[in-house]
Amino acid sequence: MATNLQIAERRVASLNPATGVVLREFDCAGEIEVQDAVARARAAQTGWAEMGVRRRIAVIREFQRKLYARKSEVAAVITREAGKPLAEALVTEVLVVLDAARFLIDNAWGLLRDEPVPHGNLVTKLKSGWLVREPHGVLGIISPWNYPFSIPATETLAALVAGNAVVLKPSELTPMVALELASLLHAAGVPEAVFQVVVGEGAAGAALIHSSIDKLVFTGSVATGKRIAAAAAERLLPVVLELGGKDPMLVLDDADVDVASSAAVWGAFVNAGQACLSVERCYVHRSLYESFAQACAEKTRKLRVGNGMAPHTDVGPMIRERQVRIVEAHVEDAKARGARVLAGGTRLPELGENFYAPTVLADVTHEMRIMREETFGPVLPVMACEDDDEAVRLANDSEYGLAGSVWTRDRKRGESLARRIHAGTVMVNDVVSCFGISEAPHGGVKASGIGRTHGRFGLDEMVRVKYLDTDRMPGMKKVWWHGYGESFTRQMEGFLDMQFAGGLGTRLRGALRAAGVFRRKQL
Ligand code: NAD
Repeated sequence: MATNLQIAERRVASLNPATGVVLREFDCAGEIEVQDAVARARAAQTGWAEMGVRRRIAVIREFQRKLYARKSEVAAVITREAGKPLAEALVTEVLVVLDAARFLIDNAWGLLRDEPVPHGNLVTKLKSGWLVREPHGVLGIISPWNYPFSIPATETLAALVAGNAVVLKPSELTPMVALELASLLHAAGVPEAVFQVVVGEGAAGAALIHSSIDKLVFTGSVATGKRIAAAAAERLLPVVLELGGKDPMLVLDDADVDVASSAAVWGAFVNAGQACLSVERCYVHRSLYESFAQACAEKTRKLRVGNGMAPHTDVGPMIRERQVRIVEAHVEDAKARGARVLAGGTRLPELGENFYAPTVLADVTHEMRIMREETFGPVLPVMACEDDDEAVRLANDSEYGLAGSVWTRDRKRGESLARRIHAGTVMVNDVVSCFGISEAPHGGVKASGIGRTHGRFGLDEMVRVKYLDTDRMPGMKKVWWHGYGESFTRQMEGFLDMQFAGGLGTRLRGALRAAGVFRRKQL
């Protein structure tokens, strides 16, 4: 069984994480190849931008048709390369992308067209202002392996509809899914040079940052994100950083234990816990703590773990054995510090080296790695708390701030607590599904990142805003131009009084003084 990613110098292998079978080997793109791809993209981008938004939307619509027609095949490619159950490949990847296309088809024209800027100040009333949204040019996208289709595809569709060309560097673990995306886009009418994939490891990503791209959208770990931010700062390359999370789930004393425990189990074990938005910490009011933890354990024991291609599989393998090692280290650290294992807690070698049993831990504390570091695996740690204030304090006691959730029968109480949690998204009575709401912005605060993808704010990241200002009286010299003097200073004081003084009398006197400005001699 092949287990090593690196087959030879500058080659990577795509593996099936459930079986270890090599699916395909690839040559890694070197610096020159990356630069060539960016140069080709730049040459093609102007034509793509000149097509106009409506024609680009037609291409997105065609992409949507083609993806819908091939939904099951695409899902199978995702499951084979990333391991997740086929049902999840359909729902959390293909459906998310079909809907992201729907959002752009319905909204891109309205969101990208020129927008008037009404002027509130008297001095500038005679000018018209417009916001013009222009593509950046060539966008670099660097993506991770955990959602190898939905992450690069949603970002790419938004970039393309805005008129950018894209060079995508997918994770070295999931290049085949990226090539599937490329073939769908090209078949839909996106020119080959306008969307290109460069396969390779971190070095290919680094080469992309040092190429002449105009903006980078990066999704991945905090450690890589920091390296990328430093490299981007060297040349002031604008970046969006979608990084890791340690999402808290707050179960209040009036929550429905049955519903909340099912949500916790799904939220913690979807994609074998390898989701940036997965439930990584659970704080439960003491009055429900034991019953909630036991309900989670019972439901977890019923999960069927196996190859994602089998129709009954609930939880698939982890992507690589090194990820299993991280999970194992976090669980062992928690056990050594007094955590109780209510379910799982071991590898499943009989299934393969990448399988770890869905695990529920109780009696965890913030001294344990499992509550502080991103585990990114199938573990649900549950901790008791005394009241809402303590739950919020614990939720905010983290370097991360991607998302979180609050569980309660009282919607107002849930929303008011949600406002106190430091995160890019907080859901009341749901987990994870915010990623599939195409209108909703996705992104984090604190170490979880900078900027947003998805929805209106995601589209804003794909354009630079130009302010276009036109004077409606081209034959008139501006009153504030040179030729100052004492009287001009007094006139300007009057002008400020006229606009901003509290009393009506001062305003009127100001207006009389300001009127003289039109009679003064200017250069
Ligand atoms: P990673 O940081 O190891 O790799 C991400 C990508 O960066 C890969 O394509 C990799 O090849 C590339 N890369 C590595 N080193 C690089 C360098 N020096 N310069 C440029 N590119 C480089 O992350 P991963 O293991 O692929 O993904 C898991 C992480 O991603 C988790 O932390 C998870 O939370 C995060 N994630 C975040 C979101 C989000 O939307 N916030 C979504 C999914 C995953």
